[in-house]
This record gives sequence, structure tokens and C-alpha cells, in this order.
Amino acid sequence: MLFKDVIGQPEIRQHLLDIAKREKIPHAQLFMSQPGSGALALALAFTQYVVCVNKQDNDSCGVCSACIKAQKMIHPDIHYTYPIIAKRPSPHPSLSTDYIQEWREAITQNPYINELEWLQNIGAENKQGNITADEARNILSGLKLTTFEAEYKIQIIWMAEALSREGNILLKLLEEPPEKTILILIAENQEEILPTILSRCQLVKINKIDDASIAQALLKKGVPQSETTHIAYLADGNFNEALKLMDSETHGNTRLLTQWLDFSVNLKAGELLRWTEETGKMGRENIKSFLEYSTHIFREALMLLHIKEYSPRLAHDELTLASRINRFLNYEKLSDILQLINKKHYEIERNVSPKMVLMDMSLKVRKILKK
Ligand SMILES: [Zn+2]
Repeated sequence: MLFKDVIGQPEIRQHLLDIAKREKIPHAQLFMSQPGSGALALALAFTQYVVCVNKQDNDSCGVCSACIKAQKMIHPDIHYTYPIIAKRPSPHPSLSTDYIQEWREAITQNPYINELEWLQNIGAENKQGNITADEARNILSGLKLTTFEAEYKIQIIWMAEALSREGNILLKLLEEPPEKTILILIAENQEEILPTILSRCQLVKINKIDDASIAQALLKKGVPQSETTHIAYLADGNFNEALKLMDSETHGNTRLLTQWLDFSVNLKAGELLRWTEETGKMGRENIKSFLEYSTHIFREALMLLHIKEYSPRLAHDELTLASRINRFLNYEKLSDILQLINKKHYEIERNVSPKMVLMDMSLKVRKILKK
């Protein structure tokens, strides 16, 4: 992966380039990351830069044989450890490389993938992924060998939380690292990393990606410019989430909200009933997401109403919707609706029947409108 393909994170990119160029690479780094913020993408770009034989000032060359191998994740000096479930019948020992083919495919397709999606990819269903003691020992012995092609031997450990107790096996490695080895641990929950490991790694904090970079990346993926801003806004710094939103959610939600308002405002009782039935079947998570989305639209409408020259985080059709809302709602009614939706969101979380919640919400919104 090239640095230029990493989304946002200019400071971390610069930091990683700097330490590689000055050959001041710490033996062990812990990338402590917000979900979907690109820790693995950064690690891939960094390790490719380290092995590239024709380094450019700000990126790998992308064409030398080391780069090609790194891109295909087949470089003999770059190793990957990630959570797995034991294969059935289980080979002994049970190692991350049991799933190397799946790993290469999944990560090539989306380096922002989360652990759950990865585990689903390898058929884990409800089982928890593990980094086994065998895998930890394998890392130890692997890093002791001399390199094949590169100057450094590199080990990436993705979702290092999955090491749990087996992490202690790596302590010796962290205390007395062999010459020319680079260890990169990637994690999202600092509390789940053994303190003994934490204290021996150089911590690299990876924050959320900024909205503008996410929007730009979506644009490159062919998302219309009118939609990139609100997807980025909803994704809140998580590019994996942005990819999911890109696929489905927003389109459906804009339609649902437009219908709900139309049926409620214009007293179309039969349609409203049908809407409640259908929407009630969407499942709790989808309904929550619809309510969150509606909150976002009403809040933006409220801002538009009250702040001169406010530039809203809305796509074209949403802007139309927000202006329509503002035509029949004033500040007081908008705040009441926001409170109402918030309360309904809470009830959905509390397992109240979705149909009841949506029906009650529709009845109450009519009262607010009539005020
Ligand atoms: Zn290269």
C-alpha cells in the first residue's frame, strides 16, 4: 500500500516517513487506533516504504519488486498475525497463516475492515477470534531468522488485544529484540493490552480521520459529491463505517423520513399505518440508524433556520427536505420533535416493540404539528 492511498492522517504519515528515512525505527511500536481510522493501512504503507528499494521522498516507488511483493502481501520479510478461529479439523499448531489466503484477499479489498467482519469472512460466526500461544511462539522464532531480501524483518500484529495472556510469550522479544527487527502492534482498546507490553512499545496514537479526507476518498470511489459530505459526517472519522453507509443506509433513510413527514403532516392515516408496519420490520439496529439520521436532518434544519450563512452537512435531496421542514416548523416545534425522536431512540434501545414506538412517534408528531 502506498502512503498516498492512506486516507487522511497527514501527521502520522509524516512521522512514519521521518523515522524510516532517518533509520530511527523503534523495535516495537503500538498503533493505538480509533476504529476505522486506518492503523492497518498506515502499517502497510510504512512497511512497504521500509522494504522499498527505490524510496521516494514522500512514498514508496510502488514498482520495484519489493513494493510489488509488499502490495500482494507476499514479501518474505513481512509477516502478519491476526485473530483466527481454529480450523476444523484443527491443524497443529493453529496459526494465523492457516488463513493467509483469506487475509490477503480481505485486506487487499479493504484495509479498513474491522475485526468482526474479518472473523465473519473466515466463518467464525459467533466464535471469538484468538491469537494463539502457538502463533506467539511462531512470531518469536520467525523474527530470529535472518532476512531474505530486506534489511529488516517485520512483524505486524493486528488486533493485538486478541493476544490476551499469550502476550507474555512476546515479552522477551520486546525486552531484547533481535537486530533489525520491527514489530508493529495494532490495537483499539488500550486497557486490553498487557501493561508489560504497553510499557515496552513506542505508542503511536491514531485519531479519527477528518471528515474532508473521508469525503474526498468517497469521491474517488465514485460517490456523487452531493452525498460525500453527509456520509463523512455520519461516519464520524471511521472509514469502514463510511463504506457501509455508502452502500445502503442514507438513501433508504432519506426516503423513509420524507415519507414519514409527508404522511404525518398531510394526515394520510392509511399510508402512515402501512409505513409503521413496514418500518417496524426493519430490525432494531436499522431503526436506530433511521432515528439517528432523522435527528441529524432536523438538527441541520434547525441550524439553517437560525444561523445566517450556515453551511449544512447535507446532500442535495436532504437540503430540499430540510428547507421543506423549515417551511412548516418553527424553532419550538423542531426542538420538540428532536426530543421526541431522542426518546424513541431510547425506547428502541430498551427493547420496546418497534411498531409501538414508531406508531406512538407518529401520533405525537401530529400533536406537535397541530400546536
Ligand atoms: Zn519500491
